[in-house]
Amino acid sequence: MTISQDLFARAQASIPGGVNSPVRAFNGVGGTPLFITKAQGPFTFDADGNRYIDYVGSWGPMIMGHNHPAIKQAVLDAVENGLSYGAPTETEIFMAEKVKQLVPSIEKVRMVSSGTEATMSAIRLARGFTGRDKILKFEGCYHGHADSLLVKAGSGALTMGVPNSPGIPEDFAKHTLTVSFNNLDEVKAIFAKYADEIACIIVEPVAGNMNCIPPVPGFLEGLRAVCDEYKSVLIFDEVMTGFRVALGGAQAYYNIIPDLTCLGKVIGGGMPVGAFGGKTEIMDYIAPVGPVYQAGTLSGNPIAMAAGLKALELLCVDGLHAELEAKSKAICEGFEAGAKKAGIPLTTNYAGGMYGFFFTEQDKVTTYQQATQCDLERFKKFFHLMLEEGVYLAPSAFEAGFVCSEHSEQEIADTIAAAERAFAKL
Ligand code: PLP
Repeated sequence: MTISQDLFARAQASIPGGVNSPVRAFNGVGGTPLFITKAQGPFTFDADGNRYIDYVGSWGPMIMGHNHPAIKQAVLDAVENGLSYGAPTETEIFMAEKVKQLVPSIEKVRMVSSGTEATMSAIRLARGFTGRDKILKFEGCYHGHADSLLVKAGSGALTMGVPNSPGIPEDFAKHTLTVSFNNLDEVKAIFAKYADEIACIIVEPVAGNMNCIPPVPGFLEGLRAVCDEYKSVLIFDEVMTGFRVALGGAQAYYNIIPDLTCLGKVIGGGMPVGAFGGKTEIMDYIAPVGPVYQAGTLSGNPIAMAAGLKALELLCVDGLHAELEAKSKAICEGFEAGAKKAGIPLTTNYAGGMYGFFFTEQDKVTTYQQATQCDLERFKKFFHLMLEEGVYLAPSAFEAGFVCSEHSEQEIADTIAAAERAFAKL
């Protein structure tokens, strides 16, 4: 028995499923989750002393690699002054100013403590601002676990939402409309039907929770146009893409300006942080200036702000995002070449510092339906073969991979070589 297996057995006696967030349980790939003891640069280390080249990066935030010395120091410095005050601090202003500078569509920003809080609050704000109840999301896009967002489409693309977790009243979920990602015709049709009832569209501008699916040309532009036409609020959920796809997020990469943006993970540098921001006109609709209530005891926590601010400063290096994209591209091309050599059908996607690969005969994956039709059994085997090779990929076929500044040419080459050996064994 490995130490991880032992810890997992113990964890399950006290924690539901042994984990504090479901994907960590390895349900998507089978086997025992690795219990991590430390992480440094591009590597994580498990309780059994194994080292892995890590492409999870704490599910996104570790763009500058794990345990960056400058972020660590910022945290240590902040800790000297106390852990939380529940009162305003100057660091919060620095943070807000930095976010505005990097994401110019954000004129005002409110800090929260997770991506879920960011999307939940942005939705409430959009509803309050427009006085409308319905929201539109895309099948396969994940925006955290707030009730109105844990909803997927029914069998027909234009049906009312049904909750995909017990505990969410259908009466509540019916306000969530769901259509297909990358399908503008469905968006137009549903707006034609509900016209002035839809408060907002919320979208991951690069979908990263059904593997990695970038928007097809014209899709984001079309969403912008529809929102303008129907006076709906366009919300980009950049919890994953923010500061990763480009310094200014996917909105900078694709040059589309949303009304509101949700941020998370990255702006905490590894600490629990999220944020939502956008046009002053909309943001001033929240309390205490406006009527829409939103609050948080630990929002803008001084330690989290210190870590996040340092992380954002570090990300402002010229050429960093081009380098990240080059690494994503190298992995995609390397995986495709390795799979081809082994006669395994595989296609890949990438945008900036995020990538995905799909075991499928299809040339390109652009939809949720295509993503779900991929060979999941093959993915599971590949995942475990890569683990044996010392490469830690996301333990699900429906998650994006993340590169970081600390993945050197050596790690990328080692990963591609490991994949080539793994493909040969599939
Ligand atoms: N939005 C997106 C795009 C995400 O990827 C996630 C988490 O993975 C969330 C929202 C929710 O963030 P959190 O897990 O911090 O609540």
